[in-house]
Amino acid sequence: MITKKTVKDVDLEGRRVIMRVDFNVPLDSAGRITDDTRIRAALPTIEYVMERKTKLVLMSHLGRPKGQEKEELRLVPVGKRLSELIGRDVIICKDSIGEETKKIISGMQNGDVALLENLRFHKEEEQNDPGFAQELASYADVYVNDAFGTAHRAHASTEGIAKLLPAYAGFLMEKEINFLGKLLYSPEHPYIAIIGGAKVSTKIAVLEKLIERVEVLIIGGGMCYTFLKAKGFEVGNSLVETDKVNLAFELIKKADEKKIKLLLPLDHVIADKVEEEAKIRIVDTNAIPPGMIGLDIGPKSIRVFKKEIKAAKTILWNGPMGVFEIEKFSKGTRQIGKALASSRGTTVVGGGDSVAAVNAAGLSGSITHVSTGGGASLEFLEGKDLPGVVALLDK
Ligand code: ADP
Ligand code: MG
Repeated sequence: MITKKTVKDVDLEGRRVIMRVDFNVPLDSAGRITDDTRIRAALPTIEYVMERKTKLVLMSHLGRPKGQEKEELRLVPVGKRLSELIGRDVIICKDSIGEETKKIISGMQNGDVALLENLRFHKEEEQNDPGFAQELASYADVYVNDAFGTAHRAHASTEGIAKLLPAYAGFLMEKEINFLGKLLYSPEHPYIAIIGGAKVSTKIAVLEKLIERVEVLIIGGGMCYTFLKAKGFEVGNSLVETDKVNLAFELIKKADEKKIKLLLPLDHVIADKVEEEAKIRIVDTNAIPPGMIGLDIGPKSIRVFKKEIKAAKTILWNGPMGVFEIEKFSKGTRQIGKALASSRGTTVVGGGDSVAAVNAAGLSGSITHVSTGGGASLEFLEGKDLPGVVALLDK
């Protein structure tokens, strides 16, 4: 297991604290926040630190400004929303570094909260530039990381700074490490993984790792057609990664050798185009006509997958079962979500789109752990060291 020191393991009373949070929220074209989940998710740690009469400096990235100052990616609306949520003023800095920022920070009183401007306005953030990290570190005595979603990147605010200050995990970070760590190191069996989404290529490493651990591996979503192709089925115009067919074949063979149940969909919702207006049909796996596209798992698959979910003690789900953004192709994803929600086992959902699907269906409250980090949770489950996690103090 990975165990890291948390904010509870350090005396914060009256100290200067700098905290990396994930305030990378979705914005609409008018620059309004469309979903403040990530801000609210950081509140327990923010409030815990604030209650200790600290000078608290928060920092985050927003979008992909690629080292340029972008008006539409300023953190001002985020700071305002945060201020409403915590019921007090937030000092919003116009930059993350520089003389003016330094002056503002050094004028902070105990109990004050400041928010630095979007870290990625400086290319040095993603380059993990030591000078940039040093400047951030100069604002504080203690560093806290509560941004699990960026922990797989060695950036100045996630890794560089952790070498310069005593570094602790926030509560969100701790929760992710605990739940995902349990899946990686000591899952209760039977352990079943349901992997879907668009591409095999983004999930090869995690599939290889999971095959070592699970009793049942279910593959749905767009990536199932590469596997079906490997098994010799005709899949029409469904999404296939031709250069990954061999790899899919190897994974099928490996599962066989290890006596792991690798389940692919038995039937599919097909259409000739990926649109709400498309006419749909349900066909078995051996009957996908030329020109048609598999866009969701069918009712037989749902029934079989649900039965497996019901029998499992640990269930990991990553990647939707179909093009769930379109109502017609969303049933498989919704039904799998429901099956997880009614399971009595430990249920973990990771991946940006699967988490969005679970939230949209109002099911997140019934899932044991909804991971906030898409790429980070996959890398963690692959067994990789995440630089932002490694850099924190060990318990
Ligand atoms: P996550 O973010 O949960 O890890 P991915 O990003 O891997 O998931 O995949 C999500 C995308 O996969 C969605 O946009 C969805 O429309 C797409 N998808 C799912 N099933 C299919 C399919 N059968 N054909 C094409 N795309 C699919
Ligand atoms: Mg995604």
